[in-house]
Amino acid sequence: MSKPKLIVISTGGTITMTSGQGSKGIAPTLTAADLLNAVPQIGQQADIEALTFSSMPGASLATSQIAELAHLIQQRFDGGIDGAIVIQGTDTIEETAFLLDMLVADRKPVIVTGAMRGAQAAGADGPANLLASVIVAGSPQAAGRGTLVVLNDEVHAAAFVKKGHTGLTSSFISPNAGRLGLVSEQRALFTSSSGMPRLALSRPGAWPDIAIVKACLGDDGRMLDALPGLGYAGVVVEAMGAGHVPQCWAPRLSGLAAKMPVVLAVRTPGGPVFTNTYGFPGSEIDLAGRGLIPAGLLDALKARLLLGALMGNNETVEAIRHQFMRFSNLQA
Ligand code: ASP
Repeated sequence: MSKPKLIVISTGGTITMTSGQGSKGIAPTLTAADLLNAVPQIGQQADIEALTFSSMPGASLATSQIAELAHLIQQRFDGGIDGAIVIQGTDTIEETAFLLDMLVADRKPVIVTGAMRGAQAAGADGPANLLASVIVAGSPQAAGRGTLVVLNDEVHAAAFVKKGHTGLTSSFISPNAGRLGLVSEQRALFTSSSGMPRLALSRPGAWPDIAIVKACLGDDGRMLDALPGLGYAGVVVEAMGAGHVPQCWAPRLSGLAAKMPVVLAVRTPGGPVFTNTYGFPGSEIDLAGRGLIPAGLLDALKARLLLGALMGNNETVEAIRHQFMRFSNLQA
């Protein structure tokens, strides 16, 4: 059987970082080719094209760059590449992977990976993560599952993966779905057959600014009133519990929802936003009545990206509501 043709695109991140560049800590220095040369086993798995897209920490990547990357990947797929691996900083993988998932409408696999330890660290995890990603990208079972995140020999769906720890190599978790599979003995083993909604959105012409506002004990929510004047076009509220805010936020949110789309997500690490249980002022039922759009199982970071992409495509509030509902009912 011929080997799959894959592209490995590096944007930077800890996996590319070394020390000794004059700065105090580690910083991005290695190219995609450098990373691939450090793992000779990859050549047995696939024919690889290496591309260094940027050399940045994950925190400094922009949505427009990820949209450009999605376009580049689609072009390579159209040109005959079988799968793509994006290397990047783990700080924002949960966001970039979801954005790629929305913008690359293809059955061919896109894998996002990185490393928790720098390239010179004892027990650096970058080489193993890169090899595992190549194995998953070359697996026929990865097709049609959207963008996947592969680290620590675990495979996660872009819509649900989160960075769950600042330092452990087992940092990545999917509290709302569990992992989709594993890499074992040089094979990808998918243990879950569940499919995520594929959004297949067009690349937005512009990215509207969407704010995330987190509800906290005793906060009066005055920040909400300032958002329209600051130029924000939409808001995601990261509410308490199952979708609750202090009652003094409720009238402020009514006013905001009359001006722009307001999505209701939860700050609780797992579970969907409720829609039909609590009826007090500031509860999920009250806020739905005030026009807020429940985010379903999407967390605030992912809800912000989905809202931005939909608004950037000039979708109506009803169309936006419909897309978010797909994350409440995964069969839809
Ligand atoms: N700060 C790093 C980054 O996101 C963390 C990492 O890559 O693991 O670039």
